[in-house]
Amino acid sequence: MPRKLPTATIRTQVTVPLRFADGYATTARVFTFNGLADGLEHVAFGLGDRSGPFNPGQQSGPPPLVRPHSECLTGDVFGSQRCDCGAQLREAVELIADAGGYLLYLRQEGRGIGLYAKLDAYALQDTGLDTYEANLALGHGEDERSYLVAAQMLLALGVSRVALLSNNPDKAEQLRHFGVTVAARVPTGVHLSQANARYLATKARRGDHTLDLRAVGGIGSD
Ligand SMILES: [Zn+2]
Repeated sequence: MPRKLPTATIRTQVTVPLRFADGYATTARVFTFNGLADGLEHVAFGLGDRSGPFNPGQQSGPPPLVRPHSECLTGDVFGSQRCDCGAQLREAVELIADAGGYLLYLRQEGRGIGLYAKLDAYALQDTGLDTYEANLALGHGEDERSYLVAAQMLLALGVSRVALLSNNPDKAEQLRHFGVTVAARVPTGVHLSQANARYLATKARRGDHTLDLRAVGGIGSD
């Protein structure tokens, strides 16, 4: 049975024109919320046919394309090549703008362990541990992310059915658990670079992600 969630409500909505480093531009309706369970400042970006003022009557029709994206300061803002977050974020914005839906920007840096701990984990990885082993060595879980607030945000936006843009089965499972129907799953692309190849291979092996690294770089996923 889906868990009964504390109700969140839309706090503010405002239009923000976006332009990325490669020149891609679109317009977002950015939503803030009251009542999110962890009290953090998570935001939703409405894109495509969801980029206008919130319209409760828009809920019929196909489910919106939704990506819960966990904040990654180094990847999202600075283009770090240690992970694929920046490229995934950029791809997600365009796919969602084309299809209509929401990007949920979740303030859970470094798989939920925080920025400093993530950088500590990078230092441990440089001694030979993988992402998950490094988090455990620091006393954290392998992955401390929760999608409870993502479900709260969607329900506040009147969305109870989504097409989920993700390779991560845990996201779909958690959203279902929190009462959001995942009507379809849309895989994201794989963004392979020299520096993140090992990270992606670990993610595929340990997190049970559906990534086919062989298709893009001749790197096996186990
Ligand atoms: Zn990242």
